[in-house]
Amino acid sequence: MAPSKVLAGARVVLPTGIVTDGRVVVEGTRIAGAAPGNEHAEIIDVRDHWLVPGFVDMHNHGGGGASFSGTADDILTAVRTHRLHGTTTLVASTVTDDMDVLVKQAGLLSELAEQGDIAGIHFEGPFISPCRKGAHSAALLRDPDPAEVRKLIDAGRGRASMVTLAAELPGGIDSVRLLAEHGVIAAIGHTDATYEQTVEAIDAGATVATHLFNAMPPLGHRTPGPVAALLEDERITVELIDDGTHLHPAALQLAFHHAGAGRVALITDAMDAAGIGDGRYMLGPLEVEVSEGVARLVEGGSIAGSTLTLDRAFQRAVTVDRLPVEDVVAAISANPARLLGVYDRVGSLEPGKDADLVLLDAGFGLKGVMRRGEWVVDPQLG
Ligand SMILES: [Zn+2]
Repeated sequence: MAPSKVLAGARVVLPTGIVTDGRVVVEGTRIAGAAPGNEHAEIIDVRDHWLVPGFVDMHNHGGGGASFSGTADDILTAVRTHRLHGTTTLVASTVTDDMDVLVKQAGLLSELAEQGDIAGIHFEGPFISPCRKGAHSAALLRDPDPAEVRKLIDAGRGRASMVTLAAELPGGIDSVRLLAEHGVIAAIGHTDATYEQTVEAIDAGATVATHLFNAMPPLGHRTPGPVAALLEDERITVELIDDGTHLHPAALQLAFHHAGAGRVALITDAMDAAGIGDGRYMLGPLEVEVSEGVARLVEGGSIAGSTLTLDRAFQRAVTVDRLPVEDVVAAISANPARLLGVYDRVGSLEPGKDADLVLLDAGFGLKGVMRRGEWVVDPQLG
């Protein structure tokens, strides 16, 4: 048996709070109780560091120059890229495309989910509003027909985690009901719904707001729209993209404060350029130009996903947005893990769970990443 690893001296963020001079014991692939199980434990001194659970990204289209709409190799490249930035659990998101293309891609993604490379599939589109299409191909959008929604669920072979749709479109409410009945998250997004239509969708079973504020009407005092309905309802978890481009810090803080840390999921919505840099990329069938880290459609200039990685989102949330560390940990690990139904295995540093953890320096820069007991990024500490 491999020696236990004891990470000692860090500030450890647990569901119950922050433990200073804490220790996390790793046995094999799992987190063990406080005492190492054998005497030949490798003690790793992590004083002056933070230890937090591995990040869980429930909305991510790619990275490292590859996308989740690509081949198996592309998918693994994107997964590896995000792992290097602390994301140890990831849901692969598709973008709007022909139904045949999506069905085929769902088959491939379900195989990778079966192998444990990804945690599930998120279909973003094609059932979204032409008025709020963002970086989705207008010609390929369609109304949410429950029969077609069913086709995507089936194509995912039990691995479909979430579908983002505009529930105000014909067939929208029935589709939300169908998703909820099948245990697939119905996420409201790329929507032009009114406040009332959004409330109806939540009552029908929607539980997530896809990148709140982005690709939906803004909050108005006479037309509160989806933002007010989604922020107000305790059944909804709101996704937020904290890259400094998608949201003003005040909007992010407003959402955090109003929903409370238990109802926020920090996501990347990353595309191929994440982990690489500026240049020309494809987002599904559309061409994207990335300049100074901001991805925009070549045609029309819409923001086209982000180049964010969750380590940067974590650091920004604490240092720029001034959110409490334990709230950021909830939003970046525990909440998405709960929503995805994997909190029994990941999402917190508790005995029995997978040894998925991130080591951060005092300034919240990424220093190490461990997944299932193995260093993905070795902090090189003795
Ligand atoms: Zn997206």
